[in-house]
Amino acid sequence: MIESKRAAFLMWGVIFSLAGGGNLFGEAKGVVNVYSHRHYESDRRLYELFEQMTSIRVNIVKAGADQLIERLRVEGRQSPADILITVDAGRLYKAKSLGLLQPVSSELLEANIPPHLRDPEGNWFGLTQRTRVIVYHKDRVQPNELSGYEDLVDEKWRGRLLVRSSSDLYNQSLLAAMIAKRGPADAKKWAEGIVRNMARRPKGNDRDQMKAIAAGLGDIAIVNSYYLGLLLNSENEEERKVGQLMGVHFPGQRGSGVHVNVSGAGVTASSKNRENAIKLLEFLSGDRSQQVFADANFEYPVKRGVPWSELLTSWGEFRADEIDLSLLGKHNSEAVRIFNEVGWR
Ligand code: FE
Repeated sequence: MIESKRAAFLMWGVIFSLAGGGNLFGEAKGVVNVYSHRHYESDRRLYELFEQMTSIRVNIVKAGADQLIERLRVEGRQSPADILITVDAGRLYKAKSLGLLQPVSSELLEANIPPHLRDPEGNWFGLTQRTRVIVYHKDRVQPNELSGYEDLVDEKWRGRLLVRSSSDLYNQSLLAAMIAKRGPADAKKWAEGIVRNMARRPKGNDRDQMKAIAAGLGDIAIVNSYYLGLLLNSENEEERKVGQLMGVHFPGQRGSGVHVNVSGAGVTASSKNRENAIKLLEFLSGDRSQQVFADANFEYPVKRGVPWSELLTSWGEFRADEIDLSLLGKHNSEAVRIFNEVGWR
């Protein structure tokens, strides 16, 4: 799914226009400038469709999520960007807090995107949902041995649990959600229990945790479900084999639901093409875009009723935690503090 050649071409700072032709980032009407962390061929086809439908040209700058925020900060009011597309509600919250986004109200966006998956003031809107699930080795763990995030601190998982570092925003957002729901004392107890049960000191990304399970270093792991999708669809046969060993458990099904985060977008504070930006966001929240956007990375659409990919359907339905995602950003620093206190590296 990661197109390395394409990624190399689209290095930091390289700007390209889908329709081609001059006046990049000019004052011309009919343009929308997007800063995006995404690099999927399917996105490009969607933007082309938007261009055909509206005659608004879409220009894309691609870079890492944190780089894009830094770039917006440095450029300030001079930034040519109209839209920021990035991952994690915690990061979107940060962009809003830094004054990089502006409020937008749109009946269509509000109808398409459930309230808990967007900023209450309209500074950002979730575009895809990702679930932070528990994966397990199908031969060594029975599905009925698993029962949610809370159970991961049970003694039976001592030395068997794999999870990446707490420096990662995905874990910070997971703990922030626990702080929001159960308070910091409970969240800290949970984090302590996880550290006690770790099979090794955290290292690597979510995919590496599943590879470690396959290598016999542990039996279960906390990962975003789309990484299993990426393994199963990898061009590398070894990675596909790792994926095939994994079962998926959706935590929180008897409680408040599986932890959900989003990739999302907002109109930048500096936007010079605000109306076009809103039109593009509305387009991305529609049925067709939702399916393409979600399928590209094995994620779930935010819009209800949009069909799921075959793989996601095979993992089954689940109850999602409908916590207001802006709380993930609000409790981020407390989550980081707790991780440091309990020694979750
Ligand atoms: Fe990711």
